[in-house]
Amino acid sequence: MSNIIITEVTQIIEAIEAIKISKAIKITEAIEAINATCTCESCKTDITLETAIPCDLCDEDEISPLYCKECTLWCDSCDLQGCKKCVKENVCWECNYNMCDNCINTDVDCGCFGECYSCGKDVDRGSDGWPCLGCDKWYCCNCRESNNNPCEDCGPES
Ligand SMILES: [Zn+2]
Ligand SMILES: [Zn+2]
Ligand SMILES: [Zn+2]
Ligand SMILES: [Zn+2]
Ligand SMILES: [Zn+2]
Ligand SMILES: [Zn+2]
Repeated sequence: MSNIIITEVTQIIEAIEAIKISKAIKITEAIEAINATCTCESCKTDITLETAIPCDLCDEDEISPLYCKECTLWCDSCDLQGCKKCVKENVCWECNYNMCDNCINTDVDCGCFGECYSCGKDVDRGSDGWPCLGCDKWYCCNCRESNNNPCEDCGPES
């Protein structure tokens, strides 16, 4: 082999080594990024960035603060995950429904409360049961048993 070829081969080997080293650095950086920790905004526990859960409902300078799993809740209405300040636990004592601030501010509800189809009185799952599966109507206890309810499933004839 001539000296020129040897020099070229050496240069190629050096270039390959350089690529290997830069890849190794990138991999190390990636691992460091995965293992990077932050502090849960609520309980101040150290958590990895990978497991940290941002709360998009917290409005702090447009940066979502990060929380650990224990300090967050799912909204049962819109399936959004957020911190316990922004997603309220057990907004309904009947079904332990959790609800985010967005959903609380709208008319969404868990389905445990409604109005009697006949008299308009407030009904709830605890004292009036669910709407009838036969007629789809939700009556209060009194109207359900009254002769005004023609339904074969839930009416007085049943
Ligand atoms: Zn926490
Ligand atoms: Zn929040
Ligand atoms: Zn929600
Ligand atoms: Zn409920
Ligand atoms: Zn009624
Ligand atoms: Zn019925």
